[in-house]
Amino acid sequence: MRLSRYFLPVLKEDPSEASIASHRLMLRAGMIKQAAAGIYSWLPLGFKVLKRIEQIVHEEQQRAGHIPMLMPTLQSADLWRESGRYDDYGDEMLRIKDRHGRDMLYGPTNEELITDIFRAHVNSYKDLPLTLYHIQWKFRDEVRPRFGVMRGREFLMKDGYNFDLTKEDALHAYNRHLVSYIRSYERMGLQAIPMRADSGPIGGDDTHEFLVLAETGESEVFYDSAVTDIRLGARDIDYDDVAQCRGVMEEFTALYARTDETHDETVFAQVPQDRRRSARGIEVGQIFYFGTKYSDPMGASVVGPDGTRTPVHMGSHGIGVSRLLGAIIEANHDERGIIWPEGVTPFHVGIVNLKQGDDQADAACDMLYSALVAKGLEPLYDDREERAGGKFATMDLIGLPWRITVGPRGLKTGVVELTSRRTGESVEMTPEAAVARLAEIYAQTQG
Ligand code: ATP
Ligand code: MG
Repeated sequence: MRLSRYFLPVLKEDPSEASIASHRLMLRAGMIKQAAAGIYSWLPLGFKVLKRIEQIVHEEQQRAGHIPMLMPTLQSADLWRESGRYDDYGDEMLRIKDRHGRDMLYGPTNEELITDIFRAHVNSYKDLPLTLYHIQWKFRDEVRPRFGVMRGREFLMKDGYNFDLTKEDALHAYNRHLVSYIRSYERMGLQAIPMRADSGPIGGDDTHEFLVLAETGESEVFYDSAVTDIRLGARDIDYDDVAQCRGVMEEFTALYARTDETHDETVFAQVPQDRRRSARGIEVGQIFYFGTKYSDPMGASVVGPDGTRTPVHMGSHGIGVSRLLGAIIEANHDERGIIWPEGVTPFHVGIVNLKQGDDQADAACDMLYSALVAKGLEPLYDDREERAGGKFATMDLIGLPWRITVGPRGLKTGVVELTSRRTGESVEMTPEAAVARLAEIYAQTQG
């Protein structure tokens, strides 16, 4: 993309309504614009990152064997009356009447709708196990929408639902979700720690929240510092391997890590004192096993191997896709702007032309651009007639992890400069070497 043809409405001044870094930087970098309280338009740069995050979530869910679909945002109240949640959910649910006076709602989550789909089409245990998921907008009329996309009213969530014959199978689905979530977060350059949590209005027995440690997080968390040393890394996972998935789940959840809702001082006291931590965290996902809570009242059952009908064991599993942008920025920024991890960056590299209009510099930038595209990379080429300082400031603000600077002086000896946004380190090299280096770096971030 050429910046002169793009739509990147960056702000020079800090917006007064933003109290935390990610909100401020998303507004300043021209990623979002508030449409109403807690409701945002996604401007091109923000939209691009949102799509990259979605893509990682899709890839990792499908790798785990979970099946993508799409359910609507508007739902009929009748289904929610069946589960009893129409009245329970409270003021967070946006209730709407259609022209015929029928009660509708903007879905805050989808357990009822998915259970209805399941009971209409699945009858036999032979069709299990089954996990369906979608990535769809949700609406929750939060009392205090704030921090930009971190606590919106309209927000994008991946929600998945497993249907299993037995509790044992459903717990395997739970573990598959835990593993696939950690993989997804790691690909986004994030550490999100699974913590024992409280099940809240969704209800359930087993649940973990995934928390990114950050001072601006809304959750209070308590953990054994050794938990922050655990990584999934590049190990091979076989999602059909029950023992392996359970093993990973146990590895990640054995040490003390809880939100304030389930925090227990006596258990915490057993953690060696120098490893006891209390901190703030951002919840970027949650997994639940809730057994037959919905399948029972809603009649979602299958005929089992013995010919008798039993309600299915279910769980639901969510990732806060739009909130993740905020969480990633909270964990990756400095005083000049965002620093995108390679896995989610909107463009792979910025090209800064120090002397727009200079034949040689322009030609070198064009060649670089084509060579990068030929390697499957997406460059953002700042081809505006602007001072170098302004171009650097924009690149630093929008946080592309790599920048190639092209100027007449370097070109005299056949070199350009490759700069890391994170370390600030610059290396001179030929344009070909810079392209090869970037191709190599990004090959490593592929799932
Ligand atoms: P919270 O405790 O932050 O209100 P929740 O526990 O009610 O969230 P879940 O039902 O677990 O939310 O939804 C799954 C994920 O969706 C959460 O882990 C979070 O990342 C995201 N999410 C929930 N509410 C919001 C919101 N208002 N804005 C943005 N993302 C949200
Ligand atoms: Mg939650």
